[in-house]
Amino acid sequence: MSRFFTDRYASLVPYTPGEQPQNRQYVKLNTNESPFPPAPGVVEAAARESANCRLYSDPESRAVSEAFAASLGLDASQVLAVNGSDEALNFAFMAFGKKLAFPDISYGFYPVFAALNHIPYTEIPLREDLRLAPEDYFGLHRMIVIANPNAPTGIALRRDEVEAIVAANRDVVVLIDEAYVDFGAESAVPLLAHYDNLLIAQTFSKSRSLAGARLGFAIGSEALIRDLNTIKYSTNPYNVNRMTAAAGIASLAADEYNRANALTIRENRRFTTDGLRALGFELPESSANFVFARRPGLPGETLYRKLKERGVLVRHFSKSRIEDYVRVTIGTREQMEIFLRETEDVIKEVMA
Ligand SMILES: *Cc1c(COP(=O)(O)O)cnc(C)c1O
Repeated sequence: MSRFFTDRYASLVPYTPGEQPQNRQYVKLNTNESPFPPAPGVVEAAARESANCRLYSDPESRAVSEAFAASLGLDASQVLAVNGSDEALNFAFMAFGKKLAFPDISYGFYPVFAALNHIPYTEIPLREDLRLAPEDYFGLHRMIVIANPNAPTGIALRRDEVEAIVAANRDVVVLIDEAYVDFGAESAVPLLAHYDNLLIAQTFSKSRSLAGARLGFAIGSEALIRDLNTIKYSTNPYNVNRMTAAAGIASLAADEYNRANALTIRENRRFTTDGLRALGFELPESSANFVFARRPGLPGETLYRKLKERGVLVRHFSKSRIEDYVRVTIGTREQMEIFLRETEDVIKEVMA
């Protein structure tokens, strides 16, 4: 920290992104990216639009917002386009976070955005089996943030469980982070018609293969979206660039491709889950594009390190409650075969 860094952020501990190695080629299963290229037409649309990048992008992101809202049966006034859904989370915390509550095991960015915005927060422990019990979130009188499916567990709530939480907290905003919803969970979008305190974040980073383009959406009542716009226009009016907006529109136009890829990921998740269980791992059924697994006698850190030596990158978290686990992104069938083979090899070496 330089001597110029303000006291305001002196205790801020920033988010640690997963490794993005720039030299060695890994079987990269550590940051929940899609193993598939963006939908047909996406790259061409972004390239074409780059010819106009002398001009600022549309501050309202009209075209992509209309296309996205239409895909959900909503009006464009109910969505806000953002520079990755992380930006939606930050804007929502800024706009609605007086006090916060979220699970103790969840997306690592929640405590960081809370600290950045000086919002006091309570971490609510997941139950012993890493499940989230909806009743633990009833009547909290603080803004609630829940990833559904949760990360890094992959466990999803049913829509009626989400509804119970939203209904039991009408005095605060309940933010449902649906980064992984397309891999088999129930979206809360149909609940928007009944609850003005529900806000949803979705992203094009995972199921639509656009992590590097940075496109996400906040979805909620017109009034909530207006508040988020107040924050946006006080931060960065041109938050979504021209190439990304064009890519998003093209991706929405080819959404059968994205849906087919999500189905393939679900098949590969089944294959990986069964393979890991056969190797002695314990893991909950995942509804996301990753699995969260541990094997008695094999520390997560050891597995992470030895897989990395073998050219396979997975994610390990040092937080004490989950340090036994690794989180493994679901890739192509070939990638998952390599992962399982190398994992078996590590077990033989460590247990020898
Ligand atoms: C990946 C992820 C996000 C955000 O991703 P963006 O790339 O910023 O859209 C948000 N929440 C969770 C739980 C995630 O895993």
